[in-house]
Amino acid sequence: MNKKGHVLNAVLLSLGLGYILEPSGSLETFRTILVVGVPVTLGALFPDVDTEFGKHRKTLHNLPILAGFYAFPIFFGNLEFVWIGILTHYVLDIAGSKRGIALFYPLWKKEFGLPIGVAVSSKRSDIMMVIVTVAELAIVALFVFEIPQRGFEMSRQMLGV
Ligand SMILES: [Zn+2]
Repeated sequence: MNKKGHVLNAVLLSLGLGYILEPSGSLETFRTILVVGVPVTLGALFPDVDTEFGKHRKTLHNLPILAGFYAFPIFFGNLEFVWIGILTHYVLDIAGSKRGIALFYPLWKKEFGLPIGVAVSSKRSDIMMVIVTVAELAIVALFVFEIPQRGFEMSRQMLGV
């Protein structure tokens, strides 16, 4: 996926996340979009820094980097949400390119892609970006709305209330 695709994906994802996390449509929704959107967009741009430093689609396109950004806020209390941007960048590079990325770098240099991956330069890459964004938001919505609801109902049944 090219830079434009990564930025658009991050912006659309942030808008969607803002509404999922704060569906009121009020000023609070707008605030949530900013709070989540800025770090997500920065995270979505970060992996391609390895076009200049290191090996592209390897050095900053792997699971240890993602784990590092996921864990960072737990230990240091900032950079929250950046990992979401990193993750969506990986998903787009896997689905929105023929080449894939080296998920297990530096342990294993193999690049993993999808057989349905579309060429970065093709027209279909924009469509793929939208499909990926919608799928990501659907998964997040499932986690935010459906699973807690089911858990709540299950515990209610177990308690017999
Ligand atoms: Zn990339």
